[in-house]
Amino acid sequence: MPRDPRYDVLFEPVRIGPVTARNRFFQVPHCNGMGHRDPTAHAFMRGVKAEGGWAVVCTEEVEIHHGNDFGGYVEGRIWDEADIPAHARLVEKVHEHGSLAGIELVHAGMNSPNLWARRPPLGPAHLPTMGNDPVQARRMDARDIADLRRWHRQAVARSLRAGYDLVYVYAGHGLTTIQHFLSRRTNDRTDAYGGSLEKRVRLLREILLDTLEEVDGRAAVACRICVDELVGDAGLERAEIEEVLGHVGKLPDLWDFMVGEWDFDSITSRFAGEGAQEEYVKGLRQLTTKPVVGVGRFTSPDTMVRMIRDGVLDLIGAARPSIADPFLPVKIEEGRLDEIRECIGCNICVTGDSLATPIRCTQNPSMGEEWRRGWHPERIRPRSAESKVLVVGAGPAGLEAAMSLGRRGYDLVLAEATGALGGRVAREARLPGLAAWVRVADYRVGQLARLRNVELALESPLTAEEILSYDFDHVALATGSSWRADGVGRRHTQPLALRAAEILTPDDLLAGSRPAGERVVLFDDDHYYLGGVLAELLAADGHHVTIVTPEPRVSEWTVNTMEQHRIQRGLLELGVEALTSHALVGAEGRRALVECSYTGRERELPCDTLVLVTARLPHDALAGEIAAGLDGREGPQVRLVGDAWSPGTIAAAVWEGRRYAEELDEPPSNDDLPPFRREVVGLAPLDR
Ligand code: ADP
Ligand code: SF4
Repeated sequence: MPRDPRYDVLFEPVRIGPVTARNRFFQVPHCNGMGHRDPTAHAFMRGVKAEGGWAVVCTEEVEIHHGNDFGGYVEGRIWDEADIPAHARLVEKVHEHGSLAGIELVHAGMNSPNLWARRPPLGPAHLPTMGNDPVQARRMDARDIADLRRWHRQAVARSLRAGYDLVYVYAGHGLTTIQHFLSRRTNDRTDAYGGSLEKRVRLLREILLDTLEEVDGRAAVACRICVDELVGDAGLERAEIEEVLGHVGKLPDLWDFMVGEWDFDSITSRFAGEGAQEEYVKGLRQLTTKPVVGVGRFTSPDTMVRMIRDGVLDLIGAARPSIADPFLPVKIEEGRLDEIRECIGCNICVTGDSLATPIRCTQNPSMGEEWRRGWHPERIRPRSAESKVLVVGAGPAGLEAAMSLGRRGYDLVLAEATGALGGRVAREARLPGLAAWVRVADYRVGQLARLRNVELALESPLTAEEILSYDFDHVALATGSSWRADGVGRRHTQPLALRAAEILTPDDLLAGSRPAGERVVLFDDDHYYLGGVLAELLAADGHHVTIVTPEPRVSEWTVNTMEQHRIQRGLLELGVEALTSHALVGAEGRRALVECSYTGRERELPCDTLVLVTARLPHDALAGEIAAGLDGREGPQVRLVGDAWSPGTIAAAVWEGRRYAEELDEPPSNDDLPPFRREVVGLAPLDR
């Protein structure tokens, strides 16, 4: 289908200083947990974005100097010549598809404790670093400032040698020295670099000028800047940024406006919708003659067009939408809007950074696997046999397996016990704040509908006997899992003696049951989102909810998706009592017994209903029943997939579904060796 002329504006070229972006789609810098450790995997991931139509494809933050590192976080690095080949490979992959490659240079200063470098971080003031490491930043003197300028300049020169078309001067996310100088929050200096805004902006101006001089027209210079630190007049505010634009607005070739820190820039869909940054960014473009890029988890081409028409942005910036669908621009261009795999705003991608592991995405299982396993977000190799496949269960795992196998050309039946497709994701998407998650099911259901070789059988709860009575060569059991009702989880590995007046599991609540009484004790030993979401649901229903967790914070693991602080604030504002560092140890009638995680001191809580969010058990019985039914005879190849194999995240279930489809007709792999490609550190020659 040709593209809708309404979207033509998105495909206009945009001049960025000496270079031209072929359209308005701009993949802004984003972390990926691969960085300098997995350079080829990283390069291929960026290359696929370029292939998918992003006119500009950037790196993540790249450390410019060995004296300022991100410790265990795996970001980019351009410390010296040795780092250039990895960058050159990335640039080559991006150029292969006619896109521009950008590098985001960073000096993180007081944001990083420099655990590798073992030297005190540098900053505008003597202040502790921004995490909670027992480390202080040292106030930079004139020599330190001269050093920083020289290091930045050297990194710019290296970037050009690697072939980048666009080089960032970075003053955003609260994590760069340039921003630390710009902000009253961190700059208490009284010299030429502190005090008035004009003086605080001096370092930014100098580094912009250095960078422009160094690139000398061979690349564009972008400036990424935080336009509001969201701390009122204690830090950078919009009015100051307007003034900053008055001082240096004409210098860079492109402005990249961002808001707050990363947790706001990439706010989860639970807390904000598409375009959340608009109100902060609107009007700034009119203060500069240079093109402007900004983000907002844009997945709708209509919103994108509005951003351009309303003069908010010139380039549609995206990190997450480009992760969930690297082919978003191409799909808009070719009028294939119904094929867009929309980001659900869950921030599983962000956990690749916080956990220093290759990026993964709930919607796009090929993310991070482009080179490691040779997976592609849009292509999958055709079938190699005539086999017939039965997929049992239409949750995230079953839907992905069926869609991917269908694309490979296999004839298959997808059987689902209930009348609905989507499994857990369809049910959970009805919980407060999780509506966008239904896109995981919607996208796959939409794609399946186009595949003539896939037959859907709803309301079909299959038994082993039925499965064996058919003639399938392969059977995928994607039958999901159930939450336990006996207290077993992380804290307790043996069942608890629970004689509560009423016990409900998440499955009960998702199926529509509600507590009979007023006082609810919810024991969350899972620590991801569900305990907090269910507490919110029940509190909003008028129950008095106490959420009990052995961890020091509610929904502790959501620190990795950057939403823990919002979850805890939301629950407290709803009147939920948070009893942290406590575990459930028993229940009798209308009382729950809990103990302090540290002292073991016990106390009782009034409890009409106990809700247990602890662990799950896989629905794997069918596999055993099929094997028993075969009784040693030849039969279909049976595999458990997704939660039925091992309960986990939705992202893991989707990934498992894809893996099943990829490996269906492969010879059994030798699991003694890694099934994915990796790069091994090159040993330095020993002196002697
Ligand atoms: P996953 O996250 O691994 O995809 P879900 O729990 O979301 O798992 O989905 C499992 C799906 O399997 C549910 O929709 C459930 O109704 C379906 N299912 C479970 N057992 C059977 C069965 N025997 N026959 C058909 N469908 C089943
Ligand atoms: Fe979007 Fe979630 Fe994928 Fe990140 S992991 S890109 S938030 S769908």
